Amino acid sequence: MKRGHQKNQRPLPHILLVEDSPTTTAMLSKYLSGRYHLVHAEDGEAAWKMLKDKPDIELVITDINMPRLTGQQLLVRIRKHKDKRIKNLPVIVMTTAEDDVDRNLAFLNGANDFITKPIDEMELQARVKVHHQLARTIRELEESRKALAEQATTDPLTKLKNRRAFFENGTKYLSMGRRYHTDTSIIVADIDHFKKVNDTYGHQVGDEALVAVANILTELTRTEDTVARIGGEEFAILLPDTNRLGTAVLAERIRVAVERERLIVGDKILSLTISIGIASIGEESVDAIDQLLSIADKRLYLAKNNGRNRICVNDEGKSSFASGP
Ligand code: GH3
Ligand code: MG
Ligand code: MG
Ligand code: MG
Repeated sequence: MKRGHQKNQRPLPHILLVEDSPTTTAMLSKYLSGRYHLVHAEDGEAAWKMLKDKPDIELVITDINMPRLTGQQLLVRIRKHKDKRIKNLPVIVMTTAEDDVDRNLAFLNGANDFITKPIDEMELQARVKVHHQLARTIRELEESRKALAEQATTDPLTKLKNRRAFFENGTKYLSMGRRYHTDTSIIVADIDHFKKVNDTYGHQVGDEALVAVANILTELTRTEDTVARIGGEEFAILLPDTNRLGTAVLAERIRVAVERERLIVGDKILSLTISIGIASIGEESVDAIDQLLSIADKRLYLAKNNGRNRICVNDEGKSSFASGP
């Protein structure tokens, strides 16, 4: 029996049927054929294995009384699963009409719906359809919510965090640092004479240079650091649990790495430098991320004034904490 939807190449949704009776299995296969792809397990234990091995399964229909693992036990395992895909699967239990104890227990165990045996074809199709579609819609909403949240905190060119994410994480890590008595530091870096790069090589090469610098910053930092593009050619890094000495060492390493980087533009080789200012919350009498950023920005400005391609670690314009003249 070929129908119109054969033209549509979207694969049939996979449903796991957990049922030990061959008669009921055959009946459900017939009722759901053409609309769904039925995967069959003869008891809860076999079903449990299939759920882990077959990520395509979108809905479960289960009998209650089965050898080895029962429908109720399977349901409990599903709802306790660490993997959200399995934990949130819609589950429809099959009970006998008289057995309201089993039905109520199934609801307590997290069943989405029930259907009584003997199974009515229309009722089965209606219940399966509504739960399958609801679960799909919820999954799609969750995916788009995640994608939007990602977009809202990401700089599209460099894929670094954006200014907003930097401030959000900054606020979070400053308060965590206070609670655990650890220092939090920031680095602010600005590419030197970047306007000249754009003017000489064009905006596209300028963009490539920004990505190259972003990659260096990412490579030299740890996963718990927040590397952000907070302005056109200005970057900031948030360093949890890092003091000013560690920050100065990292800043200098970054400065050198950028200075050594070579960008090939046609038959020319382009090199860049950056200037850096740093600040650590443990050394300053401020308590908010924007204030700490202003301090680092002031030092960045000093680094520019002192000749660029250098770091500045304090308000005196020093490029290191080494004592001496
Ligand atoms: P300084 O050493 O003082 O920082 O000089 P500068 O030329 O880097 O600084 P200025 O602020 O005068 O110029 C920044 C330039 O950065 C100007 C702008 O065209 C460029 N820029 C900002 N955002 C982007 C971008 O997204 N792509 C490209 N290609 N250029 C950008
Ligand atoms: Mg049974
Ligand atoms: Mg600049
Ligand atoms: Mg700038």
